Amino acid sequence: GIDQFPRRCWAEIDLAALERNLIAIKAALPPHIRYIAVVKADAYGHGMNQTVARLMQAGIDMYGVANVAEAATIREIGGSGWSILVLGATLQDEAPFLFEYDLTPTLSTVEEVAFLDRMAAERGATLKVHLKIDTGMGRLGIWHENANTLFEALKAASHLQLDGIYTHFAHAETDVEFTERQRRRFMTAIAAVDWIQPEKLLIHADNSAGLTSFSRESAYNAVRIGLLQFGITPYAQSLFAKVPTTPIFSFKTRIAIVKDLPAGTEISYGRTCRLKRPSKIAILCAGYGDGIPRALSNKGFALIQGQRCPYLGRVTMDQTIIDVTDLDPLPRAGDEVCLIGTQNDGEIKIEQFARWAGTISWEILCSITKRVPRIYK
Ligand code: PLP
Repeated sequence: GIDQFPRRCWAEIDLAALERNLIAIKAALPPHIRYIAVVKADAYGHGMNQTVARLMQAGIDMYGVANVAEAATIREIGGSGWSILVLGATLQDEAPFLFEYDLTPTLSTVEEVAFLDRMAAERGATLKVHLKIDTGMGRLGIWHENANTLFEALKAASHLQLDGIYTHFAHAETDVEFTERQRRRFMTAIAAVDWIQPEKLLIHADNSAGLTSFSRESAYNAVRIGLLQFGITPYAQSLFAKVPTTPIFSFKTRIAIVKDLPAGTEISYGRTCRLKRPSKIAILCAGYGDGIPRALSNKGFALIQGQRCPYLGRVTMDQTIIDVTDLDPLPRAGDEVCLIGTQNDGEIKIEQFARWAGTISWEILCSITKRVPRIYK
């Protein structure tokens, strides 16, 4: 397999740091708060198997995934004792897998309630479910003003058991006021249902950004954390910026060749970069086929010898060009290059890398391709 070949581009993942991050986040929350570890999209590109196996040892309460296929992966890793919440809507032809793998779906519509109740009845089963309320995200969940219809449908569904109620924030990273409005809508919708006991259910809203305005006095008894457990905190103003998490992900490649070019030479497809001085350039063994966004063309830096070297010209599929003119000593073919992470005294944070590319850390992590082996420490 691929392991017999020297690495050209790889990701390093520090699972011990993942565990420390989890412990730090839990320590910052009241002790009764249950922890739903969000591990969808291959655990945000970190690799579902290893990430989940480590989290199993580290004291989480539930997993959050996007769909039944991701949930099945967790069961196959050996997580039969764990609750798994499917955060996405479940298609009708996916529904049998909810029963097969003992999963908890998210329900937003009266139709979903009726369909699953019928299916559970046919199987003589009872299915635990979470109801989702749309308080301003405009995505899944029943609109909060109509929430009563969903609760009524559920009340009538004799083969569904209410296990949790949740909502999702649209703007928690910067708009505390809108987030407070979402919290009020959520609590109002729950308070209007007189036949439930919220303290016996999982009541959750907070993603990583939500923790910025997390309230200890509220009815919440669970959080759904993705990004923060991977040590990424793009919210400088967040209370949780103080939680001592560290990044667990680094992205590395190597130099293929170093060469001299005269001033005035144009670099890469489209000739978007023209050298202002006689330059030494390094060609890296990675491109957008590995997950270096093409949007990084002529933007941002990679680390060699801990020094920041600018990207030159268009990023191409397998190769990227950087300026190493100012390095002393000159780097050589085969040398290691750090695209995201730390090297000597240098650091490129994923938040910064994402900003250069005009996107967010979540998308960068999900864009590291299959070609890139994940190396676990
Ligand atoms: N909850 C839901 C419904 C989500 O879709 C996500 C991620 O997109 C999360 C929680 C976790 O969010 P974060 O990675 O910002 O912590």
